[in-house]
Amino acid sequence: METMADRVRRVRENIAEAALRSGRRPEEICLVAASKTMGAEAVQEAIRAGVDAVGENRCQELTEKLAQGAYAGAPLHFIGHLQQNKLKYLVGKADLIQSVDGEALLRQIDRRAEALGIRQAVLLQVNIGREEQKSGVEPERLPELCALAGTLPHVRLEGLMAVPPVFDEREKYPYFEEMYQLFVDMRAKKYNNVCMNILSMGMSGDYPAAIRAGANMVRVGTAIFGARTYPPTV
Ligand SMILES: *Cc1c(COP(=O)(O)O)cnc(C)c1O
Repeated sequence: METMADRVRRVRENIAEAALRSGRRPEEICLVAASKTMGAEAVQEAIRAGVDAVGENRCQELTEKLAQGAYAGAPLHFIGHLQQNKLKYLVGKADLIQSVDGEALLRQIDRRAEALGIRQAVLLQVNIGREEQKSGVEPERLPELCALAGTLPHVRLEGLMAVPPVFDEREKYPYFEEMYQLFVDMRAKKYNNVCMNILSMGMSGDYPAAIRAGANMVRVGTAIFGARTYPPTV
């Protein structure tokens, strides 16, 4: 039977191939295990199998699994929809909050981090498909939000994240490429106090394509843990 270690190894092989094809070293790509609905044991198994970080979608689930020691040994990311009233459970707990999508959230994270005496690392989530039902900032608003993040002393903006529309495989590639272009543009602007280093995109069905387009962080769930047994509430 295929073990989780086998699956992580296969994902790593695919990552390496895609990285080399786009002129980068495999080690430059960060593999985040998207562990929503998975128990603490499974998360620990993924960490032992060598994933670089673990990403959770729901605050309550994160809090429960954190208490169970699920994330020991790996950085913890938050990748789900962010609500202002839940920030207190995340700031200072998550090493990277990937799903920040507005000015109010940035300011609240800054205040919360200041109270804790830390600097919170974040990514801005971009609604690259301009989908009404999806979180994320409109691409046009990125310059303003990057500049704002640079003025907040307790926030460290490290890059961009996206969840492109679910379409036929091939139709996602333009979104990945568009995201990479945005990432390059924002990096070129050299906002004070911002280190635009991370481009987080690509999931089980499309991470090689995302990497070939320029992603250096992928969030992979099903290909590591197997199918989720109950529908996640993202
Ligand atoms: C669940 C999830 C993933 C991983 O999805 P898979 O298709 O299972 O790999 C990646 N990113 C986000 C934001 C998710 O919610």
